Amino acid sequence: MRTHTNAMLATLSWNGLTGYGEAAMPPYYGETHQTAAAFLEMAARRLQSVQQPLSPALIDALLHEIDGLAPGNHAAKAAVDIALHDLWGRQQGKPLWTIWGIDPDRMPPGSFTLGIDTPEVLREKLLEGADFPILKIKLGSDDDRGIIRTIREASDKPIYVDANQGWTGREAALDLVYWLQEHGVQLIEQPFHKNDLESAAWLTERSPLPVFADESFQRLTDLPLVASCFHGVNVKLMKCTGLSEARRAIAAARQKNMQVMIGCMTETSCAISAAAQVAPLCDFVDLDGCWLIRNNPFDLPGLQEGKLQLTTLPGLGLHVKTS
Ligand code: MG
Repeated sequence: MRTHTNAMLATLSWNGLTGYGEAAMPPYYGETHQTAAAFLEMAARRLQSVQQPLSPALIDALLHEIDGLAPGNHAAKAAVDIALHDLWGRQQGKPLWTIWGIDPDRMPPGSFTLGIDTPEVLREKLLEGADFPILKIKLGSDDDRGIIRTIREASDKPIYVDANQGWTGREAALDLVYWLQEHGVQLIEQPFHKNDLESAAWLTERSPLPVFADESFQRLTDLPLVASCFHGVNVKLMKCTGLSEARRAIAAARQKNMQVMIGCMTETSCAISAAAQVAPLCDFVDLDGCWLIRNNPFDLPGLQEGKLQLTTLPGLGLHVKTS
C-alpha cells in the first residue's frame, strides 16, 4: 500500500496575479522531484521572456515548445500547462469552464476509490467516501469476488472496477466481468497488462460492460491504437501533459465514438480543480485524489449531490487554505 505520492506545485506570476500548477508523480511513471525540478527550470527559462497577457494561441505555442524541451516528463509538463491556464483565467477574471463555454450542469457524478485491502479497511474506507455516489474498486487480487462481496454487504452504490492490469487469462476475465455485472458493476478499467492490447480487444468484443484503457492510454498519439481495443479511455492530466491535450484527447475520443472518463493521480485540489473544468465534457468522473490526502494546501472543491462544483472564481477557482 502506498502512503504518499511525490508532488510538486509550480507558480507563474504576471502583474501581481499567480497561476498554480501541479505535477503529481506516482512512482510507476518514473518522474521524481529531481526530474520535475530540472524540467521546470528549463520551462521557466522559456516562460521568463513572456511579457504580454496570455491567449489561447500563445498558450498553445508555449506548450508546444515546452513539450519539445525533453521527452517524457508528462507530469512536469502538466504543471506548466495547468499554471498557464490558471493564470490565463485569472487574467481574464473568469473560470476556465466559462471561457470554454462548458455547461456545468453536465457534470457527471463522482466516484470514490478503494484500493485492494482487508475487509475491515474496505468497510472503513466506504465510510470515508460517503459523500460520493459511486465507488471505484481496485481489483486484480487473489480474491476479486471476495472484495466485491465485502463491498456489497455494506453498500449498494454503483461500482466502477479498475483491474489495474491485474487480470490474466481472457476466459476467466470474461466470466468475472459477467459476474461483476450481476453485482452492479458498470465498467471495467485496464483489465490486462498495458501492452496486451490483443487481450483487451478480445474482451472488449465480448464484454457486457464497457472496457476502458488507463495505463494503455497515455497521450493523444496513443488514441488510434487503443480506439480499436477499448470502449473508452481514462484521460488524466498527468499522463497527457495537461488541459490543452486533455481537451483535444476528449474531442478525438468522441470522434471515434469512444466513452471518456476523466481520472486523476493522488493530487491536491490544484490538479483536481483543473480536471474538473473539463469534466462536464466526459461521461465518467473519477477525481477524488484531493480527498485522499492529508496535506492539501488548497481548500477542497465543493461537492453537491456527489458532483464536483465548478465555481465562479477565476482560473481553476483555487483557494489557498488559510488555517
Ligand atoms: Mg486506473
